[in-house]
Amino acid sequence: MNIQWIPRPQHVTQYGGVMTLCGDPVLRQDGSLPPEGYTVTLRGGTATLTYADDGGKYYALQTLARLRQPDGSYPCLAVEDAPQYAYRAFMVDSARHLQTVGELKAVIEAAAALRFNYFHWHLTDDQGWRIESTVFPQLNEIGSFRAEDGFGNKDGRRYGGYFTKDEIRDIVAFCAERQITVIPEVDMPGHTVALMAAFPQLSCTGKVTAVSTKIGIHKDILCAGNEETFETVFRILDEVCDLFPGELFHIGGDEAPKLRWADCEKCKARLRAEGLSGFEQLQGYFTNRVAAYLKTKGKRAVTWNESLKSGTLDNDVVVCNWMDKANDCVRRANSGGKVIEEDFFHYYLDYPYGMTPLKKTYTFDPMRKGLTAEGRNNIIGVEAPLWTEFVRDFDRFCYMMFPRLMAVAERGWTAPALLDYKSFTERAKAMLPALEACGVTAAPAGDWDPRGPARLRSLHAHRRAVFHANRTDRRTDDA
Ligand SMILES: [Zn+2]
Repeated sequence: MNIQWIPRPQHVTQYGGVMTLCGDPVLRQDGSLPPEGYTVTLRGGTATLTYADDGGKYYALQTLARLRQPDGSYPCLAVEDAPQYAYRAFMVDSARHLQTVGELKAVIEAAAALRFNYFHWHLTDDQGWRIESTVFPQLNEIGSFRAEDGFGNKDGRRYGGYFTKDEIRDIVAFCAERQITVIPEVDMPGHTVALMAAFPQLSCTGKVTAVSTKIGIHKDILCAGNEETFETVFRILDEVCDLFPGELFHIGGDEAPKLRWADCEKCKARLRAEGLSGFEQLQGYFTNRVAAYLKTKGKRAVTWNESLKSGTLDNDVVVCNWMDKANDCVRRANSGGKVIEEDFFHYYLDYPYGMTPLKKTYTFDPMRKGLTAEGRNNIIGVEAPLWTEFVRDFDRFCYMMFPRLMAVAERGWTAPALLDYKSFTERAKAMLPALEACGVTAAPAGDWDPRGPARLRSLHAHRRAVFHANRTDRRTDDA
């Protein structure tokens, strides 16, 4: 039988012929299997499933269900399987534009079929705060709404909303049933205009009063010299941690310009008091302090790679490598730090197919040059984000995410020697109805690897959207 799914299993032994299952499958835990590993053996009318853990059991049962033919028979074969990487994630930006709970569940369902085991949920940013707070109602009353949609779509209508605690618990439980752990992201010290709109006193100037309606990097970031910043952030984290039982907690750390800190007496005083060499080290102080607080709550912090610029980042912090021109992440991995690969040029799924065709995503190798044997072991996995500045509706969301997320899935699960782009695209086409059944519609095959005029059209449409958004920025930039 031809295995027509993604990710490709590591090892299949074909016995030939078909069988009818007599009785229930035999299920057995086997501690000698690798994490999330499993075997499915179909022979002599019996299905025998062994598995390492809950993840392995889930994938063994998923495999058995996939092998069932329309007439109820099964092919006689054995699958031995385990993932290449322990960490396989997709990221959704709910801050710039919201999704409904139903839409998120459709994506999660599809991701579970592709064997992702982490959902990184980007819930706060300059343009909106998306987590219900009962401790700080102003986070929702002020921080969850912006004056207009913005981003090139200036229609004067207030935009916003947030996920209630019940909705978040529902999503977390839905994921858990599918062996997916949710990692919330509360981005800081940058990307916090929505937070500071609710707490203007936490900005260096005290003058941030509205949720942002523009894209890009914002000058205003949380004041690192003000103790109230830490007290407030810790109370917020207390509340958010209660909603997410997983160990990993993303605290952002990307795109934090130091202009405001350099002009702030409190920040400069902190710099002197802590004996720091500069404002990058002040971000290191900030991040390490928040990471240490999370540790007291049994959590492990995750950050974007900019937080390595301080040179002082606590070694327990997991780093997401999205844009690392200085190669800090390779050094980090080589010296024992854990790194997740989500390369901007290959895995940023909000960019057009003309810029990031499917093949480019598929062929990205997370094992970068310069990694030692230990460094390679510290690349714990892959992740692909979908940022939503230009993704306002679910059709567009699915078009951008699929099938490129399928390519990331296969890289995350399947051994490099088994990767084959031609086979992948055939299996991707065969798997589209399964994704449709989850509720997501992928980009049509003709758009996956655009060439010539199609590629130019794709790039042009994106540039036009960015151009209009930037025009809106200039009108609204009060910085
Ligand atoms: Zn300050």
